Amino acid sequence: MLRIECPCCGPRDHDEFRYGGDASVARPANDDPDPDAWYRYVYVRKNPAGPHREFWQHVVGCRQWLAVERDTRTHAIASVSFARKSST
Ligand SMILES: [Zn+2]
Repeated sequence: MLRIECPCCGPRDHDEFRYGGDASVARPANDDPDPDAWYRYVYVRKNPAGPHREFWQHVVGCRQWLAVERDTRTHAIASVSFARKSST
């Protein structure tokens, strides 16, 4: 069972959370006319074997969005922070 240390609520089982996607993807500017930039933002994702930054929302608890660095091979979590404080 994957356990995530919520900064507000403490350690909780992962089924209290909802996966929110890759936290390393940067959104293009709203007025960016490049269709390739929008294509990459919407559809192109890496599938790393190793450390990966992800968004998770604590839907059953405080409802905060978190940025979690998780190793996809072992599910070991290296860090958890509020998503609004992380910039990538
Ligand atoms: Zn929480």
